[in-house]
Amino acid sequence: MNTQEHISLVDRYSAHNYKPLPVVLSRGDGAWVWDVEGKKYLDCLAAYSAVNQGHRHPKIVEAARAQLDRITLTSRAFHNDRMGPFLQELCDLLGYESALPMNTGAEAVETAFKAVRRWGYRVKGVEKDRAEIIVCEDNFHGRTTTIISFSAEGGSRDDFGPFAPGFRKIPYGDIDALRGAITENTVAFLVEPIQGEAGVNIPPEGFLREAADVCRENRVLLVADEIQSGLGRTGKMLCAEWDGVRPDVVTVGKAISGGLYPVSAVLADREIMDVFQPGDHGSTFGGNPLGAEIARASLKVLVEEKLPERALELGNWFMDELRTMDSPHLHEVRGRGLMIGIEIRKESGPARPFCEALMERGILAKETHEQVIRIAPPLVIEREDLEWALGELREVLA
Ligand SMILES: *Cc1c(COP(=O)(O)O)cnc(C)c1O
Repeated sequence: MNTQEHISLVDRYSAHNYKPLPVVLSRGDGAWVWDVEGKKYLDCLAAYSAVNQGHRHPKIVEAARAQLDRITLTSRAFHNDRMGPFLQELCDLLGYESALPMNTGAEAVETAFKAVRRWGYRVKGVEKDRAEIIVCEDNFHGRTTTIISFSAEGGSRDDFGPFAPGFRKIPYGDIDALRGAITENTVAFLVEPIQGEAGVNIPPEGFLREAADVCRENRVLLVADEIQSGLGRTGKMLCAEWDGVRPDVVTVGKAISGGLYPVSAVLADREIMDVFQPGDHGSTFGGNPLGAEIARASLKVLVEEKLPERALELGNWFMDELRTMDSPHLHEVRGRGLMIGIEIRKESGPARPFCEALMERGILAKETHEQVIRIAPPLVIEREDLEWALGELREVLA
């Protein structure tokens, strides 16, 4: 089948909940992907940072293959021999006492809500069913009915109500608003260290540091959603490290499994994690041996190949080059490591046509929040490939 036939098939049988660029991919290798017509593209989205290690990283594929030949799913009714080592390695890497494995990012966020609410009632002493969680405007934390209850206005929430109570929203990066929103019922502040989906928004210098202080002073848990910003993307294993902050709770997903399989986790110390007792929470696939083994290999690749360091070096250089670009359409270049947003001037129209022009030239990037082209390739990308992409960007933005 050719591209148009594939797209027609999806149009006919799929729910229309996405508007993808008109390219049908059938193969990937490192930072490159190929479509059904055999055309090659540089992947500058990396599945929203799920593929930080590159497509089909040989070591991760090998670990998956070996595990496929042993056992893939046991359920948590029994132990399996991969989950313990996985959780130990994850906790050692990110510096926490314990972790709870789930599958998707949204599930990790939901798990964090349960943990901090129960901590609020049982440890902090908040009155029953009164717990509040503070969140930020323009956030993205997933698609469950609870999460969309406080997500940004628009299609992701219209007519999906009634919405879940228990959330308060403040402007992103506004430390005074955070202070003002805290009540005796506040159990947590949930924040993305950099807002990816909102257009690579970076909070004011020192915001996370101050937020951590405000939280500690008020006995409010700081929950960092590092599902997109974590695991090397911004040049550190966790983006919160940039502010020298160790959040009380961290959610990770996406790159934790190198794009092979859905794995996510919540990390916290015992005081928080021990609010869960047998039967209180779970997931059929959470902590399964196939996902655990894939995640172990994926984390190992991040460390062994020094992918955070690589992201930092390549990202700094790439952003410097972008900023010197002479373009009438360029409003701003911002980012950290290889999490980069190129904001197009309003007068130049939305970012989508620029993304389509890039696609024609063999670069896959997706607009986010109308005006922003996000550049977030696999961290294994070669400098020459980025150099080539710069040349193409220069022409498209000229
Ligand atoms: C992608 C993402 C999620 C949701 O992850 P899913 O696996 O799609 O459920 C949550 N938070 C952030 C910051 C994300 O980027």
